[in-house]
Amino acid sequence: MASAAGWRPENTLPEVALAGRSNVGKSSLINRLLGRRAVARVSRTPGRTREINFFRINDRFVLADLPGYGYARISKERRAVWGPLIEGYLRESRALRGVVLLMDIRREPSADDRAMLDFLGSLHVPGVVALTKADKLTRTAAATRHREIASQLDLPEEQIIPFSAQTGQGRDDLARTMELLVADA
Ligand code: GDP
Repeated sequence: MASAAGWRPENTLPEVALAGRSNVGKSSLINRLLGRRAVARVSRTPGRTREINFFRINDRFVLADLPGYGYARISKERRAVWGPLIEGYLRESRALRGVVLLMDIRREPSADDRAMLDFLGSLHVPGVVALTKADKLTRTAAATRHREIASQLDLPEEQIIPFSAQTGQGRDDLARTMELLVADA
Protein backbone atom coordinates (compact mmCIF):
# COMPACT_ATOMS: atom_id res chain seq x y z
CA MET A 1 0.00 0.00 0.00
CA ALA A 2 1.09 3.54 -0.63
CA SER A 3 0.83 6.57 1.56
CA ALA A 4 0.73 10.17 0.44
CA ALA A 5 4.49 10.21 0.88
CA GLY A 6 4.64 8.49 -2.47
CA TRP A 7 5.95 5.04 -1.69
CA ARG A 8 6.04 3.02 -4.88
CA PRO A 9 6.38 -0.72 -5.29
CA GLU A 10 9.59 -1.68 -7.07
CA ASN A 11 7.77 -2.25 -10.25
CA THR A 12 9.05 -3.32 -13.62
CA LEU A 13 5.64 -4.57 -14.71
CA PRO A 14 3.21 -2.45 -16.71
CA GLU A 15 0.46 -0.81 -14.71
CA VAL A 16 -3.24 -0.17 -15.21
CA ALA A 17 -4.98 2.21 -12.81
CA LEU A 18 -8.59 2.31 -11.69
CA ALA A 19 -10.19 5.66 -10.96
CA GLY A 20 -13.63 6.96 -10.18
CA ARG A 21 -15.70 8.83 -7.66
CA SER A 22 -16.21 7.35 -4.23
CA ASN A 23 -18.95 4.74 -3.98
CA VAL A 24 -18.92 4.09 -7.74
CA GLY A 25 -18.30 0.39 -7.10
CA LYS A 26 -14.52 0.22 -7.49
CA SER A 27 -13.85 -2.23 -4.66
CA SER A 28 -16.63 -4.46 -5.90
CA LEU A 29 -15.26 -4.35 -9.43
CA ILE A 30 -11.78 -5.28 -8.22
CA ASN A 31 -13.16 -8.16 -6.20
CA ARG A 32 -15.09 -9.45 -9.21
CA LEU A 33 -12.17 -8.91 -11.54
CA LEU A 34 -9.71 -10.74 -9.33
CA GLY A 35 -12.21 -13.40 -8.39
CA ARG A 36 -11.31 -13.33 -4.73
CA ARG A 37 -13.73 -11.63 -2.43
CA ALA A 38 -11.12 -10.93 0.20
CA VAL A 39 -8.65 -9.08 -1.99
CA ALA A 40 -10.15 -5.62 -1.87
CA ARG A 41 -12.19 -4.40 1.00
CA VAL A 42 -15.64 -3.13 0.07
CA SER A 43 -15.81 0.13 1.92
CA ARG A 44 -18.96 1.84 3.01
CA THR A 45 -17.47 5.17 3.93
CA PRO A 46 -17.18 7.40 0.88
CA GLY A 47 -13.86 9.12 0.58
CA ARG A 48 -12.22 7.29 3.43
CA THR A 49 -9.50 5.70 1.34
CA ARG A 50 -6.61 8.06 0.87
CA GLU A 51 -3.96 5.82 -0.49
CA ILE A 52 -3.13 3.87 -3.61
CA ASN A 53 -3.42 0.11 -3.35
CA PHE A 54 -1.37 -1.98 -5.75
CA PHE A 55 -2.33 -5.49 -6.77
CA ARG A 56 0.02 -7.72 -8.72
CA ILE A 57 -1.92 -9.68 -11.33
CA ASN A 58 -0.44 -13.02 -12.42
CA ASP A 59 3.04 -11.50 -12.60
CA ARG A 60 1.82 -9.85 -15.81
CA PHE A 61 0.84 -6.40 -14.66
CA VAL A 62 0.03 -4.28 -11.65
CA LEU A 63 -3.39 -2.88 -10.88
CA ALA A 64 -3.26 0.50 -9.13
CA ASP A 65 -6.40 1.31 -7.17
CA LEU A 66 -6.57 5.10 -6.94
CA PRO A 67 -8.49 6.82 -4.14
CA GLY A 68 -12.09 7.67 -4.96
CA TYR A 69 -12.58 11.28 -5.89
CA GLY A 70 -15.64 13.47 -5.71
CA TYR A 71 -15.45 14.18 -2.01
CA ALA A 72 -11.99 15.66 -2.19
CA ARG A 73 -11.20 19.35 -2.12
CA ILE A 74 -11.93 20.86 -5.50
CA SER A 75 -9.37 23.23 -6.90
CA LYS A 76 -10.87 25.89 -9.10
CA GLU A 77 -7.77 26.75 -11.08
CA ARG A 78 -6.40 23.33 -11.81
CA ARG A 79 -7.68 20.90 -14.36
CA ALA A 80 -6.74 17.94 -12.23
CA VAL A 81 -8.65 18.23 -9.00
CA TRP A 82 -7.87 15.04 -7.15
CA GLY A 83 -4.96 16.33 -5.19
CA PRO A 84 -1.28 15.57 -5.36
CA LEU A 85 -1.56 11.84 -4.77
CA ILE A 86 -3.60 10.95 -7.84
CA GLU A 87 -2.24 13.67 -10.05
CA GLY A 88 1.33 12.87 -9.05
CA TYR A 89 0.79 9.20 -9.64
CA LEU A 90 -0.68 9.75 -13.10
CA ARG A 91 2.09 12.14 -14.10
CA GLU A 92 4.98 10.15 -12.75
CA SER A 93 4.15 6.49 -13.16
CA ARG A 94 6.34 5.45 -16.04
CA ALA A 95 4.82 1.98 -16.05
CA LEU A 96 1.28 3.31 -16.52
CA ARG A 97 -0.30 1.91 -19.68
CA GLY A 98 -3.88 2.96 -19.19
CA VAL A 99 -6.60 3.99 -16.80
CA VAL A 100 -10.02 2.45 -16.33
CA LEU A 101 -12.39 5.20 -15.30
CA LEU A 102 -15.44 3.91 -13.43
CA MET A 103 -18.78 5.67 -13.75
CA ASP A 104 -22.15 4.64 -12.39
CA ILE A 105 -24.25 3.73 -15.43
CA ARG A 106 -27.24 5.59 -13.95
CA ARG A 107 -25.49 8.91 -13.39
CA GLU A 108 -24.39 11.70 -15.66
CA PRO A 109 -20.62 11.92 -16.10
CA SER A 110 -19.38 14.40 -13.49
CA ALA A 111 -17.06 17.35 -13.99
CA ASP A 112 -14.39 15.27 -12.24
CA ASP A 113 -14.94 12.40 -14.68
CA ARG A 114 -14.55 14.74 -17.62
CA ALA A 115 -11.52 16.42 -16.07
CA MET A 116 -9.95 13.00 -15.55
CA LEU A 117 -10.47 12.03 -19.20
CA ASP A 118 -9.06 15.39 -20.35
CA PHE A 119 -6.10 15.02 -18.04
CA LEU A 120 -5.38 11.51 -19.33
CA GLY A 121 -5.60 12.83 -22.87
CA SER A 122 -3.08 15.55 -22.08
CA LEU A 123 -0.73 12.88 -20.68
CA HIS A 124 -1.35 10.61 -23.68
CA VAL A 125 -2.49 7.84 -21.35
CA PRO A 126 -5.29 5.69 -22.83
CA GLY A 127 -8.52 5.81 -20.86
CA VAL A 128 -11.37 3.33 -20.99
CA VAL A 129 -14.65 3.66 -19.15
CA ALA A 130 -16.40 0.96 -17.11
CA LEU A 131 -20.08 1.67 -16.47
CA THR A 132 -20.69 0.15 -13.06
CA LYS A 133 -23.87 -1.30 -11.53
CA ALA A 134 -25.27 -2.18 -14.97
CA ASP A 135 -27.55 -4.72 -13.25
CA LYS A 136 -29.55 -1.82 -11.81
CA LEU A 137 -30.98 -1.13 -15.28
CA THR A 138 -32.80 -3.33 -17.75
CA ARG A 139 -30.73 -4.51 -20.70
CA THR A 140 -32.46 -2.02 -22.98
CA ALA A 141 -31.99 0.89 -20.59
CA ALA A 142 -28.35 -0.09 -20.07
CA ALA A 143 -27.74 -0.16 -23.83
CA THR A 144 -29.33 3.28 -24.15
CA ARG A 145 -27.14 4.69 -21.34
CA HIS A 146 -24.09 3.14 -23.01
CA ARG A 147 -24.83 5.03 -26.24
CA GLU A 148 -25.71 8.27 -24.44
CA ILE A 149 -22.57 8.30 -22.31
CA ALA A 150 -20.39 7.51 -25.34
CA SER A 151 -21.93 10.48 -27.10
CA GLN A 152 -21.65 12.78 -24.05
CA LEU A 153 -17.99 11.94 -23.58
CA ASP A 154 -17.26 11.82 -27.30
CA LEU A 155 -15.79 8.34 -26.97
CA PRO A 156 -16.31 5.31 -29.22
CA GLU A 157 -18.79 2.85 -27.71
CA GLU A 158 -16.10 0.15 -27.82
CA GLN A 159 -14.10 2.17 -25.31
CA ILE A 160 -16.91 1.89 -22.79
CA ILE A 161 -17.73 -1.35 -20.99
CA PRO A 162 -20.96 -1.91 -19.06
CA PHE A 163 -20.05 -3.82 -15.92
CA SER A 164 -21.81 -5.47 -13.01
CA ALA A 165 -19.98 -6.77 -9.98
CA GLN A 166 -23.20 -8.50 -9.03
CA THR A 167 -23.79 -10.53 -12.23
CA GLY A 168 -20.28 -10.54 -13.67
CA GLN A 169 -21.44 -8.78 -16.83
CA GLY A 170 -18.49 -7.14 -18.56
CA ARG A 171 -15.91 -8.87 -16.40
CA ASP A 172 -14.22 -10.80 -19.22
CA ASP A 173 -14.43 -7.85 -21.57
CA LEU A 174 -12.74 -5.61 -19.01
CA ALA A 175 -10.05 -8.20 -18.25
CA ARG A 176 -9.32 -8.51 -21.99
CA THR A 177 -9.18 -4.75 -22.37
CA MET A 178 -6.64 -4.51 -19.56
CA GLU A 179 -4.54 -7.25 -21.17
CA LEU A 180 -4.57 -5.26 -24.41
CA LEU A 181 -3.51 -2.08 -22.63
CA VAL A 182 -0.50 -3.75 -21.05
CA ALA A 183 0.33 -5.70 -24.21
CA ASP A 184 0.39 -2.50 -26.28
CA ALA A 185 3.48 -1.33 -24.44
P1 GDP B 1 -16.21 2.05 -3.96
O1 GDP B 1 -16.38 3.09 -2.90
O2 GDP B 1 -16.09 2.68 -5.31
O3 GDP B 1 -15.12 1.06 -3.70
O4 GDP B 1 -17.61 1.26 -4.06
P2 GDP B 1 -18.04 -0.15 -3.43
O5 GDP B 1 -17.47 -1.26 -4.22
O6 GDP B 1 -17.77 -0.11 -1.99
O7 GDP B 1 -19.61 -0.11 -3.74
C1 GDP B 1 -20.43 0.93 -3.28
C2 GDP B 1 -21.86 0.41 -3.14
O8 GDP B 1 -22.37 0.03 -4.42
C3 GDP B 1 -21.94 -0.84 -2.27
O9 GDP B 1 -23.14 -0.77 -1.54
C4 GDP B 1 -21.99 -1.98 -3.27
O10 GDP B 1 -22.67 -3.09 -2.79
C5 GDP B 1 -22.74 -1.34 -4.42
N1 GDP B 1 -22.33 -1.95 -5.72
C6 GDP B 1 -21.09 -2.00 -6.21
N2 GDP B 1 -21.07 -2.62 -7.41
C7 GDP B 1 -22.33 -2.98 -7.67
C8 GDP B 1 -22.97 -3.66 -8.77
O11 GDP B 1 -22.36 -4.06 -9.77
N3 GDP B 1 -24.32 -3.84 -8.70
C9 GDP B 1 -25.04 -3.38 -7.65
N4 GDP B 1 -26.36 -3.59 -7.67
N5 GDP B 1 -24.48 -2.75 -6.59
C10 GDP B 1 -23.14 -2.55 -6.60
